[in-house]
Amino acid sequence: MTSSFSNLSLAEPLARAVAEMGYESMTPIQAQAIPVVLTGKDVMGAAQTGTGKTAAFSLPLLQRLLKHENASTSPARHPVRALVLLPTRELADQVAQQVKLYAKYTNLRSAVVFGGMDMKPQTLELKKGVEVLVATPGRLLDHIEAKNAVLNQVEYVVLDEADRMLDIGFLPDLQRILSYLPKERTTLLFSATFSPEIKRLANSYLKDPITIEVARPNETASTVEQRFYSVGDDDKRRALKQIVRQRGITQAFVFVNSKLGCARLARSLERDGLKTTALHGDKSQDERLK
Ligand code: AMP
Repeated sequence: MTSSFSNLSLAEPLARAVAEMGYESMTPIQAQAIPVVLTGKDVMGAAQTGTGKTAAFSLPLLQRLLKHENASTSPARHPVRALVLLPTRELADQVAQQVKLYAKYTNLRSAVVFGGMDMKPQTLELKKGVEVLVATPGRLLDHIEAKNAVLNQVEYVVLDEADRMLDIGFLPDLQRILSYLPKERTTLLFSATFSPEIKRLANSYLKDPITIEVARPNETASTVEQRFYSVGDDDKRRALKQIVRQRGITQAFVFVNSKLGCARLARSLERDGLKTTALHGDKSQDERLK
């Protein structure tokens, strides 16, 4: 297997978009997944964000959808053919942006729908017809119920970051969505780990999947130094502030386990003169994007 995109015989519009992105060679997940997805087989892929996973599934999907490509303005000529499900608004937005770039020289249309935003602009886009729909499960169900999204011509489903979708509790939503789709289809499942729950999901919805694994589950990045501090609850804030100051850290992400804890910590850091912004699910989508 070679790792150059030119050996894939991608259609010219896709090859042109890839060349424009400046990608020189395929990443390991791309080298392994693209040829398999091009055959139409189901795939169970272990790959994390940052591995080039999005291109690994979107390029071959777009290639396979090219046979449906048309310039008609009639919505009926642009039914949803590929559905990509993701756990969060931000991931959905990122994946949709990438799909748009890869599809830019084709007549295939794509759209993204996620919660926290007005349904109306999403509805207008759906009603015009899109071949590739990127969505978070809850909002997609809203659109299905409102009859804005018809999924009876879906040929490809991607369950991206499937482990996180299950962690969030999206399993019932996923089951409902999958029940609306044609049985004859290709299903691709990507997950950082293959936990027993993920395997169960795969057993229920994938047909003889090809397993592709590019990184060991839970492998850590070699570029990240890790330190562990054992401190009591009451000392955590002080310890954090001390570490930031002592190590001369100019920019930091701090992850906390609750929305309230996040807001409180941000206020406390702000009071100490550290320019801080809190980001959590109670923020409006505008605030989150900012
Ligand atoms: P992903 O893992 O899909 O979120 O992709 C992570 C980043 O890698 C994105 O910004 C892509 O544009 C970029 N990327 C994807 N494939 C390649 C490639 N073959 N060469 C260089 N960059 C890539």
